[in-house]
Amino acid sequence: MRSHYCGDLRKEQIGEDVVLMGWVHRRRDHGGVIFLDVRDREGIAQVVFDPDREESFKLADSVRNEYVIEIRGTVRSRPQGTENPEMPTGQIEVLGKELKILNRADTPPFQLDEFQQVGEDVRLRHRYIDLRRPEIQKKLRFRSKVTHNVRNYLEENGFLDIETPVLTRATPEGARDYLVPSRTHEGCFFALPQSPQLFKQLLMVSGFDRYYQIAKCFRDEDLRADRQPEFTQIDIETSFLSEEEIMGLAEGMVRKLFTELLGVELGDFPRMPYSEAMQRYGSDKPDLRLPMELVDVNDLVAGVDFKVFAGPATDPKGRVAALKVPGGAELTRKQIDEYTKFVSIYGAKGLAWIKVNALEQGAEGLQSPIVKFLGEEVSLQIMQRLGAQNGDIVFFGADRAKIVNEALGALRIRVGEDLNLVERQWAPLWVVDFPMFEELDDGSLTALHHPFTSPNCTPDELVAAPEGKLSRAYDMVLNGTELGGGSIRIHDQEMQKAVFKVLGISDEEAEEKFGFLLNALKYGAPPHGGLAFGLDRLIMLMTGSASIREVIAFPKTQSAACLLTDAPGEVSAAQLRELNIRLRKTP
Ligand code: ASP
Repeated sequence: MRSHYCGDLRKEQIGEDVVLMGWVHRRRDHGGVIFLDVRDREGIAQVVFDPDREESFKLADSVRNEYVIEIRGTVRSRPQGTENPEMPTGQIEVLGKELKILNRADTPPFQLDEFQQVGEDVRLRHRYIDLRRPEIQKKLRFRSKVTHNVRNYLEENGFLDIETPVLTRATPEGARDYLVPSRTHEGCFFALPQSPQLFKQLLMVSGFDRYYQIAKCFRDEDLRADRQPEFTQIDIETSFLSEEEIMGLAEGMVRKLFTELLGVELGDFPRMPYSEAMQRYGSDKPDLRLPMELVDVNDLVAGVDFKVFAGPATDPKGRVAALKVPGGAELTRKQIDEYTKFVSIYGAKGLAWIKVNALEQGAEGLQSPIVKFLGEEVSLQIMQRLGAQNGDIVFFGADRAKIVNEALGALRIRVGEDLNLVERQWAPLWVVDFPMFEELDDGSLTALHHPFTSPNCTPDELVAAPEGKLSRAYDMVLNGTELGGGSIRIHDQEMQKAVFKVLGISDEEAEEKFGFLLNALKYGAPPHGGLAFGLDRLIMLMTGSASIREVIAFPKTQSAACLLTDAPGEVSAAQLRELNIRLRKTP
């Protein structure tokens, strides 16, 4: 057994005999003396072999990077002038006496002892080597601290860790299901859970009162954004608590994490209604680190001849909004063209702008392709409403409200980052008062969260006019990222049926898919509610990582494949036959 981790050796161990086990990080030959940097999960120690001990010297000379070795030696201080203040073990070195090669290693596909630009696919294919890099080791160790901290907090607050099945029925969270064919039930399939939603609700019906689970969830989504087909949630459910009480508990958990693991006091978590978030930030997860806001100018442009603005301004589903960017008048034509392309991703047909060069000259001081269409007076009124100053640029969105919100909302973040307008490091908030339903392009309604979320009205009111109804849902947002979300649930059968009805789910379909839930609601279901946090995203934010792939040990690629194991893979004809599956070959 080792006596110390390499990275733990300090001056205090000088004179001690130690046993180290680890990997050869680097081997250097310095005029007859061999230096091995030996690495383990705690760090690196320098081990010196001199020719006096012939046998171990020869062995040390023969090792290569990433060999696994065992070393016996004595800790001593480094000769004066050779200390390395950059290394935690930089004051000492180990005089190597015995060396055993525990295993050899081929030359790794990428170097670990020097920074090397390697493509992510190479790193993922050899993830076990990539995971040796100290940066990633640090992140995964941090992840372990987070789950430990979370478990402690929840256990202290009376939550019970209960596992729920992975082979189950569909749980709708808005994505496609991963299906698993059943061998014993011909033609039938399990679905992997998109979340433990229904099971955690059933646990409340059973009286467990407070449940949590660090749960794997599976969603077969188009992986445009930084998402993973399988990811981890901190899943929570409680009985008999109000929205405020649940939010308070969840907030306490996140606050404790930030204080204890990062030394950060998160401060206030303001509450913002969904409608206000959309209006001011064009997003239901506003990044409050940036000062800019979307400002409505519908009333000012409703009467202009410029149809591009007047049309949406007078359409009940339209919106004309302006975004003032301080200091943005410096943006070049090329940058503005890039932003125009950027907003087109969100369906915007163009990006109108006004540069404020010299407001004291009135409309003369405005530089823009659209002032002549808007008219000088309206242009100046807009400047006044926005409090524009010389040096600013104002961008406009005019279209269906959904497009304007998405386009300007995203532009706000993009420009804010490009121009370094971020004002503080952490900006948490709760978004509340979500609409119960969202209208799809075909005019049908879908649940904005999931269909088990409780509306803020009676079943009759809901069925009579579902469009404007709010739900009892809440999302925790940090720096423009949704960290977690949940709701008070429906615990009444009639209400659950009413929601299914509005969603166009027939009684038969409801019975077939969720009969077990409707049944459970008949047998004394307590009022209950909860929420779930995306663990990967939380850790990504806390570690300042650019992608969730950086904080997952074995992530999948953007196309939902595992390069390491080459999954998903084909299966044998025999396996398919056993499952009663015949593949349709695409020619
Ligand atoms: N099940 C929800 C989700 O995965 C979270 C919740 O409502 O508790 O988004």
